[in-house]
Amino acid sequence: MAQFPVNTEANDLVNTTIFRIRWIHGSLPRSSKRDPPPQLWRFNSSTMILRQSRDISFEAPFIYLFLGREKALLIDTGATQDRGKFPLRDYVEEELERWLNSNPCRDYSLIVAHTHSHGDHVAGDLQFEGRLGTVVVGKQVGQVLSFFGISGMSGNVGQVDLGGRIIEVIRIPGHHPASVAFYDSQTGFLVTGDTVCPGRLYARDYPAFVDSLNRLVEFAKSRKLSYVLGAHVEMTDIPRKEYPIGARYQLMSTGSR
Ligand SMILES: [Zn+2]
Ligand SMILES: [Zn+2]
Repeated sequence: MAQFPVNTEANDLVNTTIFRIRWIHGSLPRSSKRDPPPQLWRFNSSTMILRQSRDISFEAPFIYLFLGREKALLIDTGATQDRGKFPLRDYVEEELERWLNSNPCRDYSLIVAHTHSHGDHVAGDLQFEGRLGTVVVGKQVGQVLSFFGISGMSGNVGQVDLGGRIIEVIRIPGHHPASVAFYDSQTGFLVTGDTVCPGRLYARDYPAFVDSLNRLVEFAKSRKLSYVLGAHVEMTDIPRKEYPIGARYQLMSTGSR
């Protein structure tokens, strides 16, 4: 996950505690496993960031939960389907309950969407299938575009209204054909999945990837951004030095994260 303030006009959105969080980072071989299945951090009362434990999957993706007055948006469901091993749904239920206790709403609904459809971002979908008042957005390009109202006419940007909180959705193919980024004006977060994150970037369709990045930069220029937030940490504190692929433990190189 990249954690850097992007432009100074967004200073009012910057919450520097994000730099002080000590994210779970796996366990050394043969040591006892103490990480929670996901670590959950409340950025504020309506915005949560979760990280799946490396003890369960070396992918250890980040997951985002935005709460509006009428709907919640869960962005990605992690790398593990089994609710027993990875109880993502229980964590989400607890947050929804806590939110609804102080912000009551009849027929509150949940949208489960994805930054893209690679397995490490959609495996937990099944935990939400059949949940009352829940839509799990399909994984195909057409399903994603139509759900968020993204068309050529819309300049590759669509949106979803959570009730007093509009999340813009930007089409960014390249890493995956169905890749999208999510922008939340309330926090200034730009959630970029695997397209932009601190680590090796995989471009399956390079021309599309470059075009997507250029459009994302243009989009960002016209919005207040606080943080660009990807879905993985694959780089050590030393720029360009990666953790070994598949590492179950991300040893701190400088102790600063
Ligand atoms: Zn991916
Ligand atoms: Zn990924």
